[in-house]
Amino acid sequence: MGRYTGPACRLCRREGMKLFLKGDRCNMAKCAIETGRTTPGMHGMQRSKPSDYSRQFREKQRLKRFYGLQDGQFRLTFQRALRHKGVTGDNLLQNLEMRLDNTVFRLGFAASRRAARQLVRHCHVAVNGHTVDIPSMQLKVGDRITIRENQRSRGLAQKALEAAQGRTMAPWLSLDAVACEGNVLRIPTRDEIAPIVNEQLVVELCSK
Ligand code: SF4
Repeated sequence: MGRYTGPACRLCRREGMKLFLKGDRCNMAKCAIETGRTTPGMHGMQRSKPSDYSRQFREKQRLKRFYGLQDGQFRLTFQRALRHKGVTGDNLLQNLEMRLDNTVFRLGFAASRRAARQLVRHCHVAVNGHTVDIPSMQLKVGDRITIRENQRSRGLAQKALEAAQGRTMAPWLSLDAVACEGNVLRIPTRDEIAPIVNEQLVVELCSK
């Protein structure tokens, strides 16, 4: 299936929670979830009691949409989590958090994960001094993420950094806003990762 190009707020309404897909607007009173807009579709409010499968599927969709992944990418991320030692659910969330596009967003260089993805795709970001255009790249502890030294790249990042000033910095990252540089200090723990999903249900669904 191709990438979803419809209204972002519709996805939040479908999942019944804020997925923070639109940058600054998500923190405003006009957010569709804040205004209490209901599930989209003619029969949005008439759904019967969800089955086990339905609950598992919804949790997976929430996670996938929160990080902006397509089905194939999500499946690959899950398989990688399965191969690693430890709790699969935790591994899955850690792999999603350590993606380059998510880290660029967490550092404040972009207003949303979607914008961060575009920043990477358009070659404005470098990892350890090398320009990278792969948003799904998995970062490692000690990696250095910088915005390339040209007026356009720095301008975009500085604008996003100014808008992100009130945002809490992820504790596993460090940021030098003046130099437009961030570092991965460590792997985040489950408690530090924001998605409010039951990852165990996602693991049950994807393991079938
Ligand atoms: Fe979701 Fe943001 Fe739209 Fe609110 S404003 S419904 S959080 S995309």
